[in-house]
Amino acid sequence: MLLLSLFVSPQKQIRTNAREYNSWTRQKVCGSNLIIDLNEELTPPSGCDLCIVGTGAAGLALASELIKTGLDVIFLESGAFRKEAEVQALYESVVDGPCFNFQGRSRFFGGSTNCWIGQLLALEDQDFLHQDWIQHSGWPLQKTELLPYLKTALRFYNSDQLNFDSDLLKLFGLEENPFDPALLRRYFSKWAPRPHLQAEYLPKFETSKNVNLLLHANLTRIDLNSTLDQVQKIEFVNNEGKKFSLEMKKLVLCMGGIENARILLANTRQIPQGIGNQHDLLGRFFQDHTQLMAGFLKPEDEKKLQEHCFERTHNGLLYTPKFSLNFEKQRQEKLLNLSATIWPGNPDTILPRRVLSNIRRLRFTTSQLISGPAFDLVQLALKNQALQIEKCLHPSQQRISVSIMAQQEPSPESRILLAKKRDRLGIPQSKIQWRPTVNSWRSMVRFAEILQSQLEKSALGKLELLPHIRQNSKHWQIFMFDSCHPIGSTRMAKSPQEGVLDTDCRVFGISNLFVLGSSSFPTGGHSNPTLTLSALAFRFFDQIIKPELEAQEKMP
Ligand SMILES: Cc1cc2nc3c(=O)[nH]c(=O)nc-3n(C[C@H](O)[C@H](O)[C@H](O)COP(=O)(O)OP(=O)(O)OC[C@H]3O[C@@H](n4cnc5c(N)ncnc54)[C@H](O)[C@@H]3O)c2cc1C
Repeated sequence: MLLLSLFVSPQKQIRTNAREYNSWTRQKVCGSNLIIDLNEELTPPSGCDLCIVGTGAAGLALASELIKTGLDVIFLESGAFRKEAEVQALYESVVDGPCFNFQGRSRFFGGSTNCWIGQLLALEDQDFLHQDWIQHSGWPLQKTELLPYLKTALRFYNSDQLNFDSDLLKLFGLEENPFDPALLRRYFSKWAPRPHLQAEYLPKFETSKNVNLLLHANLTRIDLNSTLDQVQKIEFVNNEGKKFSLEMKKLVLCMGGIENARILLANTRQIPQGIGNQHDLLGRFFQDHTQLMAGFLKPEDEKKLQEHCFERTHNGLLYTPKFSLNFEKQRQEKLLNLSATIWPGNPDTILPRRVLSNIRRLRFTTSQLISGPAFDLVQLALKNQALQIEKCLHPSQQRISVSIMAQQEPSPESRILLAKKRDRLGIPQSKIQWRPTVNSWRSMVRFAEILQSQLEKSALGKLELLPHIRQNSKHWQIFMFDSCHPIGSTRMAKSPQEGVLDTDCRVFGISNLFVLGSSSFPTGGHSNPTLTLSALAFRFFDQIIKPELEAQEKMP
């Protein structure tokens, strides 16, 4: 069996039968590392130095450092190695407001990196600054403090160390800007070549001597000491609701941008308003990147368009050109930060289905619909129909679409709350009140106009904006979609009067409780969040864990 376990992956073993898996588990115990499925084995350890909840992007970035140490670490993971309907159902939420794609998340080893697409971008310098035209903007950190950790994060995702603008523009010979630089900036996003972290990190857990993994282990309760300033122990349950408890020196929540806030809000036994919520800020300032399909592009100079606007590869890595507003222009017109991507060959992305689902969620009555967005909807349906006909008549013609992703202005009214309804394990579901402000719409429409004129002036192509954008529709909320980038619900701040976490990602007032993930971002910019949240995990290791290990000589 020992020999067999060297060749057969645990996924395969877990799928075979319980007895086989248990005997493999015992062998792992003898080798000093454990991977225990709590649905099969009911005797997990009862203490550790460091407990980390969640094995998504944040948890695995931290694991990549912890496996090099002598620290006794336990990871709790709600799922196992593949999607299971009853575990996934624990993510169900009540959505109050426009589209929020909460079903996008994955609840098993690897977290949402099992379903993400691996586009890497860093938040920009200006996202870290307070901008007087954007309420509650800025970070309590400078971007320079994150720079070394962003480099580590790029290595973690097997990407290169080139910067996103000048280095890549030079690499691809695109230094000459076809646009007016006072209006548009250009840079590239990078794509992680192997985005699904499970395949890369499961073998590392198997061979690690100090990092243990408990599967089907759902964190349900956090117990503080009598002075309410330290976590003493936690309670977690398996799929059947069987309870286990664990004591640890430090607890790190890496449960994702919604669940981090939910578990703290749900722990009301000792602090009625929830842990870390003494100033009623927990769950507030919830943001996501607002997404908008702007329109379709008819190329003028195809070769030039391809050169400047379509994706590139180098050394087996993929890069996508991005366009943003010049920062000075953004300041002058008091706009939010945003970016555009030109997608060749993109299928129909007008998404009438998503617009209809927004109408349902926003609870329009028939008379409100008729007097309100009905005209916009008819125009959208007609446009969609025209595109379908065009596709039938010219099946080989490539369609080029332009999409925009924007920052959401942080607002206390946009928030995660607890719903009355509970999940199967008795934890109240999250209630998602996502409230982008009209500034997102205003910024995206203005940006679309600038993009349209610049594409035309540079003879790259003619951008046909969709009717609701061209006419700056009053019913903007039905056209606004999230990007599965939940941000801000446990915001980092200088003081507990302004946020939930300090700059070490520690919950204010609780010395050994930390939260990692995009829930800590006070402002989300427009950049996909995972590279930056991973950088924060590496910074946490370097600034909180490593100094203690060096003092105890537990670093190799
Ligand atoms: C379809 C899609 C596409 C995306 N594309 C991109 C992209 O291109 N670029 C980008 O930067 N980002 C992208 N994202 C976002 C990205 O996936 C997240 O930013 C990232 O995964 C967040 O990492 P995390 O560790 O904070 O949370 P997650 O990856 O969500 O991990 C959370 C972990 O916690 C576990 N967990 C939750 N609750 C409990 C509990 N009670 N007990 C125990 N364990 C628990 C979960 O099972 C999971 O393993 C995308 C997301 C989706 C859904």
